[in-house]
Amino acid sequence: MLHTLSIGELGRNLNSGQISSVELTRHFLARIERFNSALNALITLTAEQALAAAAAADAARAAGGQGPLLGIPLIHKDIFCTDGVRTSCGSRMLDNFIAPYDATVVAKLKTAGAVMLGKANMDEFAMGSSNETSYYGPVKNPWDRTKVPGGSSGGSAAATAARLAPFATGTDTGGSIRQPAALTGVTGVKPTYGRVSRYGMIAFASSLDQAGVFAQSAADAAIVLQAMAGFDPRDSTSIDAPVPNYPATLSAPLAGLKIGLLREFFDGLEARNAALIHEALKIYRSLGAETVEVSLPHLPLSVPTYYVVAPAECSSNLSRFDGVRFGYRCENPKDLLDLYTRSRGEGFGAEVKRRIMTGTYVLSAGYFDAYYLQAQKVRRLITDDFRAAFAQVDLLIGPTTPTPAFDIGAKINDPVTMYLNDIYTIGANLAGLPGLSLPCGFVDDLPMGLQLIGPHFSEAKLLNAAHLYQEATDWHRRSPHGYE
Ligand code: GLN
Repeated sequence: MLHTLSIGELGRNLNSGQISSVELTRHFLARIERFNSALNALITLTAEQALAAAAAADAARAAGGQGPLLGIPLIHKDIFCTDGVRTSCGSRMLDNFIAPYDATVVAKLKTAGAVMLGKANMDEFAMGSSNETSYYGPVKNPWDRTKVPGGSSGGSAAATAARLAPFATGTDTGGSIRQPAALTGVTGVKPTYGRVSRYGMIAFASSLDQAGVFAQSAADAAIVLQAMAGFDPRDSTSIDAPVPNYPATLSAPLAGLKIGLLREFFDGLEARNAALIHEALKIYRSLGAETVEVSLPHLPLSVPTYYVVAPAECSSNLSRFDGVRFGYRCENPKDLLDLYTRSRGEGFGAEVKRRIMTGTYVLSAGYFDAYYLQAQKVRRLITDDFRAAFAQVDLLIGPTTPTPAFDIGAKINDPVTMYLNDIYTIGANLAGLPGLSLPCGFVDDLPMGLQLIGPHFSEAKLLNAAHLYQEATDWHRRSPHGYE
């Protein structure tokens, strides 16, 4: 079964001529055809371009071309601009937007020879934790289609879990890679802020947004991250530091590794969820790691801090969608103000409007000091807490989410309850740290995630720790019933 093979195994089969990229691409397109109408994971299919790109990859290989992603299919979150292909960001506002250029992430994966099958559904402008705010309707969780897949990269996560592609891209502003990875039972990596270019990635909250990957395993994610990462002069916050060889260090021994248990993450954690984390810690101890408890006293403030900073930045970033230059424009505007207000009023959904209003409020003259400035100070305290923790330990460990996947519709009318889904993921974004979620067991027959957080630029160590856990367990090999 081609869709159960790792990227490494697929590469070997392509190299030996056992399969061609065109065959592989056809296989995944057939799975999309079969499963996507029930999951709503993809909102744009690019089958023709995919087959052409696959044929080009086969020709390149026949001519001596090499590379671990040459001819491997993928799905891009619809937040990444794709030249000549609709890039909607899950919004009516961009329903008619054909991007005129490729995002750097898209360009890099194209250069590596990866074959785009289509674009994944997502929460509107990446705002959400359940993939229910999309203009294109909710994504269903392949483990149970009455449940959400998590958000905002829910389409990418569901597609990876249902094996509609070997890997998918995503973005993580407050948890949108790790949280859906956890709820769909796949491996998700959110790199250090600045590690992967944001050029051509539609901005939500620019100081938090970071692109990353969903895959079946840490070993596969390492191959993909290798191709995505690196300095980009077109992104002013991109970091000019060499990209390590992530696959090369996957099996480095963990003896002596110090893992910190985040005390604040265990306060009030449901017993069955905590038990899974403690099982994982046993495995790490058997691999030679040492575990100690650490406390980050300001971490419980991360959700309120994020829900000031992120809306503030989004209110500024989304002001460009005004009905004038691109995107949705209302019918028959009577004057310029009417054009602006109705285009925005009709083009944006309820959650996006809520964020723009909150953000505008916290930045307004009378409230800036009380909210935005205060949130920035707390953000610094949280960052300092992480710095102090990493003076004692190499990695931090905890749950990715408080609960398994919840029912579609259960939280959508209660924003505060919805926002609390990201209670364990937001801290890493506020501090710009890399984080990873990997499957670690089940609660109520639904997958749960184990989260690893490391110091800046510790992706190699995170992938190494995740890979050795996956060598010792088989949670990441389980697939949802019906998609085997
Ligand atoms: N769920 C968070 C939010 O709604 C995070 C989203 C994200 O990481 N893009 O803002």
